[in-house]
Amino acid sequence: MRMIGKAPTIKNPSAQFTGDVWLDLLAAPQEGDQRMVVGLVRFAPGARTAWHRHARGQTLHVLSGVALVQSRGQGVVRVLPGQTVYCPPGEEHWHGATADDFMEHLAMSEGADDPAQSTVWLEHVTEEQYRAL
Ligand code: MN
Repeated sequence: MRMIGKAPTIKNPSAQFTGDVWLDLLAAPQEGDQRMVVGLVRFAPGARTAWHRHARGQTLHVLSGVALVQSRGQGVVRVLPGQTVYCPPGEEHWHGATADDFMEHLAMSEGADDPAQSTVWLEHVTEEQYRAL
């Protein structure tokens, strides 16, 4: 075994996120055939991902605040601390904070055979869409 040094906290790019979203990468492949990726993601009030999909799905576990999670064509789901939501492979969705509070979740997924397909980013969640929730 070995200790893994903490990666610096990075700010997620505005091309794929609205508002301030910070990522601590907690786990990533250490050997060539591993796929597991775990991130601690912190969203400022009102911050959220763009619409996107994951080739091998994604599990989100909420640590604090209330997460808003929505799949395409479905209503928004409010996910509370201690609760876990699963998004199947290829299902388009977004996740983020409520307008008034911070939110933190663990984001757990596996890389695709083609890393470029692990997460495919789509359009932003507009203010109009977000405020309508
Ligand atoms: Mn996702």
